[in-house]
Amino acid sequence: MKRAGYLAASAALLLLASPTFAAGTNAPPRAALPNAPVTWVEVKSEDLDTRGLLPVGKELLAEEGAKWRHAQTPHFAMHFAAAEGTNFAWKVAVQSEFFYRYISQELGGAQDRFPCRSHIFTFRNETRWKKFLKTQPDVDKWSYSFAQGLCMFLQQGKNAEQQSGVLAHEMTHLMVNHFIAGHPPLWLNEGVAEYYGEFGLSEFRGVKRHPGSVFKSGGLREPMTLERLFAIAKYPGDEKEVHKLYTTSKYFVGFLMVKKPREKFPGFLLDVAGGMPAVEALKKHYDFPDPATAQKEFARFYH
Ligand SMILES: [Zn+2]
Repeated sequence: MKRAGYLAASAALLLLASPTFAAGTNAPPRAALPNAPVTWVEVKSEDLDTRGLLPVGKELLAEEGAKWRHAQTPHFAMHFAAAEGTNFAWKVAVQSEFFYRYISQELGGAQDRFPCRSHIFTFRNETRWKKFLKTQPDVDKWSYSFAQGLCMFLQQGKNAEQQSGVLAHEMTHLMVNHFIAGHPPLWLNEGVAEYYGEFGLSEFRGVKRHPGSVFKSGGLREPMTLERLFAIAKYPGDEKEVHKLYTTSKYFVGFLMVKKPREKFPGFLLDVAGGMPAVEALKKHYDFPDPATAQKEFARFYH
């Protein structure tokens, strides 16, 4: 899920490329992933690949008066309102196909657990989005867009920068659902989406980003303790706490990615998504003898 309020900060971060005061990293350089042409075929609703469609998606398509058009790319079925045209949905599809390849590579060449298309519903109109959100009582009202199972509901951002950030974040959630068995806890799910949302987006644009330009010393001003972070089961009611949850999670994933061997992360993610307590997985994959040691090292990373 992506918060509207946090988007401005995340977009601003993308513009700050100066590596000054960079936290130390050991991230190895990785070969850039080339962009590839995407096949786009408009299909009638009766010809859609509906295997990954959730009831909420089916209801949305069947809504009275809804005039959806559909197009399919190798891994995605795109749904867009007839009145809103193909342009936005096509751009989303191109970035999505890139993310599909990028995340599977990042997760150590993980196999897709559901060999069927994901569904992306695009909303270019805020009124349409709000109307839809009202039908989703389990989705927080501050949500800018969200992913569920193999479906994504995506509102167009206010500008291109914001838009790409939202898509990259949600796409990471979708790809985790495709490639990782189980359910990562809230902090890990959001931390991974924030991390890959940022670095995957740069990669899509062909811009090399040094992790030190994102994870700056002193950059995490209001951290949560790891103990609290690992215990959070649902989005806090307080906006400030939500912000802390997203930023601390992102920094902690960043800490594991850049201060520890990168190749350990997919195994860690798999174990925690499969139900292993974070503290136990930190010990198994990263040799942290106890939570206090992890907390201390993490604090050194962001201070
Ligand atoms: Zn999210």
